Amino acid sequence: MHSKRITRRAGGGELDLLRQIRAHAGRLGGRALRLGIGDDCALLGLRPGEELAVTTDLSIAGRHFRIDWHPPESVGHRALARGLSDLAAMGARPLAAFLSLGIPRQLTVKRGRNGSWVDRFMAGLFRLAAAHQTPLAGGDLAEAPLAVADIVLTGAVPAGKALLRSGARAGDLLYVTGALGGSAVGLTTLSRGPRGIQARRWTTPTGVPDAFRPHLFPQPRIAQGLALRRRGLASAAIDLSDGLSIDLAHLCEESGVHALIESRALPLAQGASLEQALHGGEDYELLFAARPAVRIPRAIGGIAVSRIGILSAPRRGKTPIQIVTESGTEPLPPRGWQHFS
Ligand SMILES: [Mg+2]
Repeated sequence: MHSKRITRRAGGGELDLLRQIRAHAGRLGGRALRLGIGDDCALLGLRPGEELAVTTDLSIAGRHFRIDWHPPESVGHRALARGLSDLAAMGARPLAAFLSLGIPRQLTVKRGRNGSWVDRFMAGLFRLAAAHQTPLAGGDLAEAPLAVADIVLTGAVPAGKALLRSGARAGDLLYVTGALGGSAVGLTTLSRGPRGIQARRWTTPTGVPDAFRPHLFPQPRIAQGLALRRRGLASAAIDLSDGLSIDLAHLCEESGVHALIESRALPLAQGASLEQALHGGEDYELLFAARPAVRIPRAIGGIAVSRIGILSAPRRGKTPIQIVTESGTEPLPPRGWQHFS
């Protein structure tokens, strides 16, 4: 993807929108951004000895969000949160974001004082961007048959120091930040009836009821990822975007280990079932491994850290992940949350 300036592709209101985006994007600062929107490329500066971390995510209407369920501010927030969460998992510090947006014409029509759907989408994205000093440094905008946001996040990490999925070994202990299943709880409730309409008024992380916050306004664990990397605590890490059962399987595969987790050790979000904690995606918490001798704090940056299991050498003929429940030890097959399908 190009890191081009945001260009004009459609008439009338779009130019206005671009002006607004550029004006707002410029105010977000970020010392690494040497040159932002307005030239052919953005210029990012790294500190000596750093390498660039890059991640990209696609958010598609009807697939990753619903125009009729999600407040536009939440859609913008979530699009950026997914990328920031990937940076957090690597222990990278965010540098800048790039956004390519495809939008149907009707979503650019102003409605009330908060503006159009896309105005509100950008407001949600900018709010989270400001919280993490992540300027919007470029992108593209075009009319499209459905709403699509393709976001690229860049970050910086000292060379050779990024947290990888592949660094864990047998005997390491497994930890997660925060609580699990909260996003699935919110989504399940949103999908049941008239709440979806109500939710469109929940426009900020503080203005939303607790039960919906993890789903509508998940907080990427940037500070926690940085702390794990800087303090040398984690041997491997991944963010929980698809669900614990899938993301743990990725970590196990990349590290060449098996895992045993304990159901009663899992930090369930308010109202979440074990199923939702294991398989509900989009919690954007960090899952990490640490050597058994490393003392892991109970909380990092105000977010609880829970020990949930242990890694072992692969055992032939066994599934990679086993879970201890009240009824004994059983295999845990990877199974993600099925979004809107
Ligand atoms: Mg990820």
